[in-house]
Amino acid sequence: MDTTYYDPALETADAATLQAHQLARLRALLGTLLASNPFYAPRLRAAGLASAEELRALADLCRLPFTRKAELVADQDAHPPYGTNLSYPLAAYTRLHQTSGTTGRPLRILDTPESWEWWQHCWGYVYRGAGVGPDDRVFCAFSFGPFIGFWSAFEAGQRLGALVIAGGGQTSEQRLQTLLDNAATVLVCTPTYALRLAEVAREQGIDVSRSSIRATVHAGEPGASIPSTKRRIEEVWGAHCFDHAGATEVGAYGFECQAQPGGIHTNDAEFVVEILDPRTDEPADEGELVITNLGRAGTPVLRYRTGDRVKRQPGACPCGRTFGRLEGGLLGRVDDMLTVRGVNVFPSAIENLVRRHAAVDEFAVEVYRERAMDELELQLEVADAAPEAVCEAVARDLSVALGFRPRVRSVPAGSLPRFELKARRVRDHRARTA
Ligand SMILES: [Zn+2]
Repeated sequence: MDTTYYDPALETADAATLQAHQLARLRALLGTLLASNPFYAPRLRAAGLASAEELRALADLCRLPFTRKAELVADQDAHPPYGTNLSYPLAAYTRLHQTSGTTGRPLRILDTPESWEWWQHCWGYVYRGAGVGPDDRVFCAFSFGPFIGFWSAFEAGQRLGALVIAGGGQTSEQRLQTLLDNAATVLVCTPTYALRLAEVAREQGIDVSRSSIRATVHAGEPGASIPSTKRRIEEVWGAHCFDHAGATEVGAYGFECQAQPGGIHTNDAEFVVEILDPRTDEPADEGELVITNLGRAGTPVLRYRTGDRVKRQPGACPCGRTFGRLEGGLLGRVDDMLTVRGVNVFPSAIENLVRRHAAVDEFAVEVYRERAMDELELQLEVADAAPEAVCEAVARDLSVALGFRPRVRSVPAGSLPRFELKARRVRDHRARTA
């Protein structure tokens, strides 16, 4: 069975065909919203759009208002529990999921049977990007709680004919055993957790690079697109590591293909993706990712400001897909840049340097001010008889990249937090002490 593409016609369509497809779907969506969505209808009319036909070209999208997460949260606060971004009566909805709540109160999102189908449809592209098909056994190392996480990955795997295995309600040791007992071929989890599972295996004397896992599919953190983290996952698992991007409010909008040219494709069949300069809101090649989803009319987002920093990757992809590409995947958050001693530091850049050192199991970054001077301290869990030498090597790499020498020290194995979802390894203490 050919598992190269999910929808070959759209994935290899020329730009004009794709844009016509997007415009038709966008108009249909706007028609629904103007007719029956209490959140969007007044916003669209206030922006001067009285009917969907007034949107004559895709470029007219810039007439539509942005949507910010804070607005959706405020709307749910004012109209609990689900807010007003609902195009249909409540009885039409059959699933509730919520955001992970790592940055504030969780946002509740409802899906209809149709939009839940759509979620799985979008995951079809993600899986095909990684070459997943009926011969695969997909293990989802995920808690299966209210966070949407990999629920859609679990159900979408069945649609492709794969055998799917739920890894909820288990310890890491139990997950590892389930994965091995069932000879799983695909591991779906966050990049951090893939490394954690491998670490647990190593503690038990198991070499997972010899396991039947041939591909790992990730989301939730930038890690799988950070070159040295990706390489690390591929080495410890003896598998190809694929990144994918998605969000509870938006859908699964990006995926990596087997050509692996160093970035992710956007799913231009189901989403309209813009990249805007966050200061001017004008189109840019590098800036904030802004997304409109086309297949979730019951709870849509128009021009949603993701807060994710991305860079457009020019040129054609060797895989043959004509979908757009984001170089290096999600590069971090628009607002996660730290300025330390006048130097701009991105957490993903630190991770890329640290993960080059195979002996480092986990790390944390503390930024604070001491005697009116910014200090960046890196704490490393080092699995090596001579941790000081590893710390010294990491410090050397970082000082070359940063232009100043950070403090690097080793901490006892297992003392740093482990993350199943959305790792938060950087703590900036300066706001409190300033
Ligand atoms: Zn490609």
